[in-house]
Amino acid sequence: MRGINKIALPCHVSLLRQVELHVHLDGAIRVQTILDVAKRRRIPLPADTVEEMTQRIIVDKPGSLTEFLGKFAEYMHVIAGDGEAIRRVAYEFVEDKAKEGVVYVEVRYSPHFLANTQVDPIPWDQEEGDLSPDKVVQLVNQGLREGERAFRTKARSILCCMRHMPNWSMDVVELCKKYRHDGVVAIDLAGDESLNCEAYCGHKNAYQEAVRCGIHRTVHAGEAVEVLKAERVGHGYRTLEDPALYRQLLQQNMHFEMCPVSSKFTGACCPDFTKHPMITFRKDKANYSLNTDDPLIFNSTLHDDYRTALRFMGFTEEEFQRLNICSAQSCFLPDAEKRELLDSLYEAYGMIQSTAF
Ligand SMILES: [Zn+2]
Repeated sequence: MRGINKIALPCHVSLLRQVELHVHLDGAIRVQTILDVAKRRRIPLPADTVEEMTQRIIVDKPGSLTEFLGKFAEYMHVIAGDGEAIRRVAYEFVEDKAKEGVVYVEVRYSPHFLANTQVDPIPWDQEEGDLSPDKVVQLVNQGLREGERAFRTKARSILCCMRHMPNWSMDVVELCKKYRHDGVVAIDLAGDESLNCEAYCGHKNAYQEAVRCGIHRTVHAGEAVEVLKAERVGHGYRTLEDPALYRQLLQQNMHFEMCPVSSKFTGACCPDFTKHPMITFRKDKANYSLNTDDPLIFNSTLHDDYRTALRFMGFTEEEFQRLNICSAQSCFLPDAEKRELLDSLYEAYGMIQSTAF
């Protein structure tokens, strides 16, 4: 994102209070933290400076989703299975979001990908240890809570099922149920979209159980919204290719979690931002948010996504405010807390509460 970085964000946008709903904790780790933890755990890495390690991890030209997902293998073995590291990553994440002006964030991750016991298979070639997916959720909750207290940015989490691991999904929904009053607000389905999720009844069963228990649901795939009874959709650009589905989702006021910078580097959209699907979503006054997805891997911040919308898609301050109000309305907080968040945005934007959105 170096090219875009040079352009200063106008003050009214850089000071905007924001809500972020789609960002992966394991795609938002500080490179320095990866280096520190590797050193403490004596895990050899191919680079020992932030600059060199950053070069190995980041994607700086458009590629495929599969290629992008391979980047996690550069560092996940360092963080996974280490309780102290996991708590630190969650805490620092809140600090980074607070610096960007985010007042509320929903951060997602797969507890299984960070565990080293009670997970089959144990990921990232780790030896078996004592960190279960349940313990991972406790540590992330703790880090987010401490971060929230220190930096005054509210943070909740979404637990991810992984497309290629349908046998983890029932576990994921059980963890959502167990921690629903302790920081966890929803379930997600993430991972390689080239795998057809409808074929896997593990995911379907987990989402059915989520519906039954009133656990909120988002999903990385527009086409699965119906099957999985999702309330929000991650990205969802391709729904534009199916006009009937798109119209139906607009009518339902479905929330789309848009990630423009990510969409370029994962090859989800054409790299020419002036032709980005978000322009159509905006024109149709769709319900959507602006998000980073994986800022570590794109070497980006939330400001880069706003800058992209401003510079290449003609977005205005009014639209940024509207989409953040939409984001707050579509967040997974309990009603009273959602009301509080909305009120704080109306106040920050100088809007009267009764303004119709
Ligand atoms: Zn994502």
